[in-house]
Amino acid sequence: MKKTVIYLRQSLNTDKQPHSISMQKDMALEYAEKRDWIIHEVYDEGNRSARKTTLDERPQLKRLLNDVETGKIERILVFKRDRLARKVQQYIEIYRILKKYKVDLHFTADNEPPPFEGAASEFIEAILAGIAEHEANNIVQRLIYSKIPLIKKGLWQVGSPPFAYESKKKKKSDSKEEDEEPIKELKEGESNLRHIPDKVKTVRTLYSEVDAISTDIVDKRDFSFFCKCLKENENLASLTPKQIWDIIVQPLHIGKMVQRLDGNEYSIDNEVTQTLRILTYEEEGLWYKANDIVKQLDVPESITGEKSEDDEGLEEELPMAKLEHVLRCGTCKEPLIAIKKVYKCKTKTCKNAPKINKLDEEVFQRVWAYLIKKGEHQWGKLKEILEKRYGEPFKARITYLDNEISLLENKIKSHFQQLLKYPSEDNQEQLSYLVNCYKEKSKELEKYESLHFHNKQFLNHLDKKETLDLISDINLTEIQKQNILSLVKVVHYHRKKTPDIRCLIPTYRGEK
Ligand SMILES: [Zn+2]
Repeated sequence: MKKTVIYLRQSLNTDKQPHSISMQKDMALEYAEKRDWIIHEVYDEGNRSARKTTLDERPQLKRLLNDVETGKIERILVFKRDRLARKVQQYIEIYRILKKYKVDLHFTADNEPPPFEGAASEFIEAILAGIAEHEANNIVQRLIYSKIPLIKKGLWQVGSPPFAYESKKKKKSDSKEEDEEPIKELKEGESNLRHIPDKVKTVRTLYSEVDAISTDIVDKRDFSFFCKCLKENENLASLTPKQIWDIIVQPLHIGKMVQRLDGNEYSIDNEVTQTLRILTYEEEGLWYKANDIVKQLDVPESITGEKSEDDEGLEEELPMAKLEHVLRCGTCKEPLIAIKKVYKCKTKTCKNAPKINKLDEEVFQRVWAYLIKKGEHQWGKLKEILEKRYGEPFKARITYLDNEISLLENKIKSHFQQLLKYPSEDNQEQLSYLVNCYKEKSKELEKYESLHFHNKQFLNHLDKKETLDLISDINLTEIQKQNILSLVKVVHYHRKKTPDIRCLIPTYRGEK
């Protein structure tokens, strides 16, 4: 017998996401009970972020898809689309697998539109998943905005604390999330960092050694030689050149806290940050002197470099990798996987590694240009294709529901008359049954109308002359771009060659 199963996943942490695992589970169980389904298994992913982790890093989903592919699963109950995947392409990939193995997908959240059938389904699913992804980005934005006031108070918010400091809050040992819990127990004016006494000593030693360093050494301008000389002091022997640099330039040692978030730099100097001083007011000269000295040295970029970019590891600074899952290496035919800022070929020795932003933009421009070109020369034909493909199923469903609803309206009217004439429990029951049907159908109609509206909006972007003219300076949102890119079926990438694009729009085979 094929199984009915539940998939659960919570993202971010409990504070920011009201949809806890147990709530999702209750909803799913209730949904199943109403339909007399027996739940055979629960795949509980815990709180892994779908946005952060690839399929490989979500063992329960991987196991579930394996079970799907071996024909064990009949239906899956999940809270919302975004529980399966936060990225459009990944969602579509999962959606395809479920479709292929004829697995029924059920969303248990009240306001989640049901999965779509028919020709337009994949496109609509892409739009809906796009909305889910958009929400995920908003969550990241909200997280950023919630941090700014704390940063301005002088609390350390971004990345791990500098050398010689540690966070007062103990990290939950069982949580893999990088995000720390908000600090609640801090008093006004109290810092969320504290000194590590041993390391404070190291820092102090470092500044006084730099103070004492001879001008001969500085004149050589060689940073690694400079470090070598400092490391002759046994208290500094274990420091790496990178650590030496980071300590010297760290303004927190003189009570100033500098943090970078979402492209902005916040430099705070207040009573909170002043408590974190390592050098006293009188010793402040040592800090400035050390900084003057290192400025005279040739320091490799790997040491001074934009360390903040890598260290912060803030997701929103990484590109969205819109083409992952449709990208293939033109040489080895292997998929290209998004790693930080580039797509890398699965074959380790292969050098095909385009920059995500660049390639996404290039492919987008070409698909968009193709749509525009098509729009200019064969507008009627293109519109026909798109409308037929994406619009018809909605119209059909809406017409059907409209009919059903007006039939129900008439029935309700006559039953109401009936009930007035012959008040009986039977008649009462029948009437309330009809009213319930009416409510459900109206709700469904509302969903379809809203989807139809989104769909039409998308198509409208294609039929506005002004939009066509904007090709040279496109200011579409990331989501709109994503929607357009969801028309891409596969892209073969080869260095020095133009990417070979296949689209879902039937007539498109590359440009020209
Ligand atoms: Zn390759």
